[in-house]
Amino acid sequence: MMKIEIKDLTHVYDVEVLSQLNVTLENYRSVALIGISGSGKSTLLRILSGLEKPTRGEVFLNSQDVTEDEHRKSVGFVFQSHNLFPHLSLLKNITLILEKTRGYTPEAAKSQALKYLDMLQLSDQVHKLPRNVSGGQAQRASIARALSLNPDTIFLDEPTSALDPILTHEVLTAIKELRGLGKNFVFVTHVMSFVKDFADYVIFMQDGRIVEQGEPKQMLEQPKTKELQDFMEKVH
Ligand code: ADP
Ligand code: MG
Repeated sequence: MMKIEIKDLTHVYDVEVLSQLNVTLENYRSVALIGISGSGKSTLLRILSGLEKPTRGEVFLNSQDVTEDEHRKSVGFVFQSHNLFPHLSLLKNITLILEKTRGYTPEAAKSQALKYLDMLQLSDQVHKLPRNVSGGQAQRASIARALSLNPDTIFLDEPTSALDPILTHEVLTAIKELRGLGKNFVFVTHVMSFVKDFADYVIFMQDGRIVEQGEPKQMLEQPKTKELQDFMEKVH
C-alpha cells in the first residue's frame, strides 16, 4: 500500500508547469494520472519517482523524501517506448543492470531476470534482440526489467502510447496480472477502461494543476468539475 504526500509542489522549467499541487493519500495500491497532453502528468511522475527534483515544495512517498538517493532504489520506471539497449537480448538487458548496479552474480541475475520475463510471458523470447520482438513484447520486457530490481513502486508513463490497439490490450492485460505481486503502481494513461479496472485512485490534471482527485468510479462516472466532464467527453 502506498502513501503519497505532496505539499505545495511547484515546478518551473522556462515557465511554471506544476503550480501548487497538494495531495494526501494513503492505503491505495494503484494511482492513475490523467489529463490532456501538456497538463504536467509526466513531470509529476518524474518528480514522484525521483528522476527530477522539484523546484519548490515537499514530496514524500511512503514517508520518504523523494529527493533522497535512497528513494531511487525503491522505484522502477517504464517509459512510453521501451528504451531497451538495442544490441542486447531481452535477457541481457536485465542481467546487465542487475550485475552492474545491484551486485548480482551472473547466475543470480539470470535467475531473477528469467523469473520476471516468464511472469511477463516472454520465456520463449529471452534471447532475441529488442528489434526482433513486437512492440508489445519489448514493452513487457521493460516491465520485467523494472520489476527485476525489486522496487516497491512502479511508475509507468503512457506505457502503451506507442502501440496499436491489439498490443495495447496485450500489455495492459499483462500489467493487470501483476496486481497480486504486492507492488504499488503510479501510472499515466489515456486508456480510461484501464484506469477503471486497475486504478484505485485517480488524479486529474489540467494546466499544471490538480483539478479533481478521488476514486475511479466516482471520478469517471460522475465528474464534478466542468474540466473533467469535458475531458471525459473527449476521451470517449
Ligand atoms: P504531460 O505529460 O501531461 O503531457 P508534461 O509534464 O510532459 O505534460 O509537460 C508539462 C509542460 O512542461 C509542457 O508544457 C511541456 O512542454 C513542459 N516540459 C516538459 N518537460 C520539459 C523540459 N524538460 N523542459 C522544458 N519544458 C518541459
Ligand atoms: Mg507525458
